[in-house]
Amino acid sequence: MNIQMVDLVSQYKNIKQEIDEAVHRVLDSGHYILGKEVGEFESAVAHYLGTNHAIGCASGTDALQVAMMAFGIGHGDEVITTPFTFVATAETIALLGAKPVYVDIDPRTYNIDPAAIGAAITKKTKAIIPVHLYGHSADMDPIMEIAGRYGIPVIEDMAQAMGAEYKGRKVGGIGAIGCISFFPSKNLGAFGDAGMVVTNDAVLAEKVRMIIVHGSKKKYYHELLGVNSRLDTVQAAILNVKLKYLESWHEARRKAAQQYNQLFQGNTVALPSEASYARHIYHQYTIRLKHRDAVSRHLAEKKIPHAVYYPIPLHQQQAFLQEGSAKGAFPVSEKAADEVLSLPMHTELTSEQQQVIVSAVLEALEERVAAPETR
Ligand SMILES: *Cc1c(COP(=O)(O)O)cnc(C)c1O
Repeated sequence: MNIQMVDLVSQYKNIKQEIDEAVHRVLDSGHYILGKEVGEFESAVAHYLGTNHAIGCASGTDALQVAMMAFGIGHGDEVITTPFTFVATAETIALLGAKPVYVDIDPRTYNIDPAAIGAAITKKTKAIIPVHLYGHSADMDPIMEIAGRYGIPVIEDMAQAMGAEYKGRKVGGIGAIGCISFFPSKNLGAFGDAGMVVTNDAVLAEKVRMIIVHGSKKKYYHELLGVNSRLDTVQAAILNVKLKYLESWHEARRKAAQQYNQLFQGNTVALPSEASYARHIYHQYTIRLKHRDAVSRHLAEKKIPHAVYYPIPLHQQQAFLQEGSAKGAFPVSEKAADEVLSLPMHTELTSEQQQVIVSAVLEALEERVAAPETR
């Protein structure tokens, strides 16, 4: 049985004609930079998320960078975020000359623990970046409350959570700015790199719109320091087609997650939790296991794809070593990094495949139980 972690090709084949036509329209138009498809897709995303503005850019990483640039974040500033995330969240903070200040996570949702944010705030704090990890919203109300109390903007890293909900509202427009990634494997994926910034604030939107084209409103007149980070027209055309299917894809993922939950029922595996405030879109279906690495080896032998997002929390990454980053500094994140295991999750996953995957995980666990001397 050929099981894949993500199955982008089958998904493409299901909508091939529509995608191919959209791409060819761009190729025939000659408008390769900021063609009309970019504006159309921006409006469609703003409508989908219920935000006033959406500005395309070249990647999710760039979305985070230009969002922070719009707030003028730079040398000497601090930005609070989680150490249990993809590197881009903190990398962009550091690239701008600011310091990532980490706050540990909630062990159930893997998202920043709002109760621990207060102790990390200083006079230098210029933003708080919660990450909606795996497609599950961070607990936004208490985050917005403490940010509001100190007048600090919240930037939502929603790279994995386009369409995820918090208390019935789509994430992205809750904080000051939301940053989306359309990396091919994300729930809404382009056929290359692509990203977007969403906001309800007209002034921020205008700044971001300038920053992504070298800080200019009028060509060759540069008011701000900017970058070159536009959403590619071909990618916008593809994404425009795919956005129509996104809700049905979320539902397919939620159904697959339920199926996994049922198959694991009655076993010791810790399943992903969905908080009462959240609509999880299962960018990842991530379980927790004490003997994760042994299970991982067993799955590899059985050729069952799986992944660890992420094996090393950011405070322990070579690139970010700084004072206060010793092992044990963020114990919940460190434990999660040792125990999480993501299983195949995509819109083409069949329940037969899921049975094979779950059987292999349970088999690995039983083997561990049968071989206690290697524990
Ligand atoms: C994917 C991702 C990013 C970066 O997005 P790219 O489009 O790959 O640059 C940032 N943050 C998180 C949490 C991500 O998962």
